[in-house]
Amino acid sequence: MTRTVLVNAGPWLPVPPDGYGGIENVVAALVPELRRRGIRVLLATVGRSTLPADEHLTCFPGGQFEVLQRPYNQVSGVAHAHLHAVVRALRDRHDIDLVHDHVEVVGLAVLAAAALAPGAPPVLHTLHWDLRKHADFYSGLDAGPRVRVNGVSASQLDRAPEALRRHSVGYVHLATPLAIGADRRPPAEKAGHAVVVGRITAGKGQHLAARLAHEGGFDLVLAGPVGPYRQPADLTEAGAAAAANPDVRYWQDEVRPLVDGIRVRWIGTVAGQERNALVASARVALFPLQWEEPGGTAVVEALALGTPAVGLSRGCLPELVEHGRTGWLATSLDDLAALIPAAGQIDPRECREQAARRFTPAVMAARYADLYEQLISGFAPRAAVPADRAASIRAVGPAG
Ligand code: UDP
Repeated sequence: MTRTVLVNAGPWLPVPPDGYGGIENVVAALVPELRRRGIRVLLATVGRSTLPADEHLTCFPGGQFEVLQRPYNQVSGVAHAHLHAVVRALRDRHDIDLVHDHVEVVGLAVLAAAALAPGAPPVLHTLHWDLRKHADFYSGLDAGPRVRVNGVSASQLDRAPEALRRHSVGYVHLATPLAIGADRRPPAEKAGHAVVVGRITAGKGQHLAARLAHEGGFDLVLAGPVGPYRQPADLTEAGAAAAANPDVRYWQDEVRPLVDGIRVRWIGTVAGQERNALVASARVALFPLQWEEPGGTAVVEALALGTPAVGLSRGCLPELVEHGRTGWLATSLDDLAALIPAAGQIDPRECREQAARRFTPAVMAARYADLYEQLISGFAPRAAVPADRAASIRAVGPAG
């Protein structure tokens, strides 16, 4: 039987994203594989998304990532408007078998309420963030029998409050399109540099990577946005007002003093082939984590591109990186510094092979397809939808 799943990627960025975009990269990996398995996908996203799906549901013409970094009381309507469009589709359509949601907190709260309606489809909500965040919501969660959550690593779920864990169906490691055929990719010529690819934010530890580069005498390239600013020129243009953003303050206070443009460079957000070439030619991808990294898309991408991951042994890193085979894990910064020169002992082929085996969209989609079936079959069949509701489907669901 053909299943129809509403995949809610949220209002932040188009799918696939143009450069930075964790959830959007994962959704871009997942949707084609679901469709290959015969699952129909209604993708709730923003209008500039180009990922093929059976249908698209959009509330905003473009990504709201920059807008969503303004103070909460100015922008709380954005995520709610997006969720409102999703709920209207659920109310007015009769063909959605399950909702797979990726919108932190508001998605779970709103869809848990929507799932109470008679005949509403079950909801699988993927948790993408550190679960100590939003403890006041998660620790009192009582989402009812039709809502389940999954994590993106075992270590992430270990940190979940008990009430959230009661809703859990386990974890599914993240995958990236880069893992497809990674073991057949020809080895890239290695340059001397190290990379950190990701949002410039304290948890990713870019200031520590920069310090290690100066002390260890190697070149470091930092790629990624600072808050809503994708490129150095955007940040300069924003002037003093930009400092209202905590990631901008981190950049200004901790990272920028170490960025000399020679030994350590910040190149802004990189995308597509440019990002791939930057990572594939790096000697090492650094993860001097200062938080419990929940999912680690940049880790699995580095491996897929044949670049060893070297970082602090926190969060999901020990699940993704095999110490001594695909990278090095350290428990202190001093140990990390000592391991960086040993990156050359890691065989890039082993990194690519593990990525091609463990972190492929097909592996991820197979897990999700199983979970979908479990959730769908575990609930009472949906009630028949009255004809007048079926009529409004066409008004709500934009064509794909
Ligand atoms: N990314 C990218 N270009 C950049 C910075 C990041 O393509 O300049 C991608 C990166 O490859 C990864 C994703 O954005 O797939 C998520 O990055 P990060 O780990 O910072 O995500 P988060 O912690 O926000 O999920």
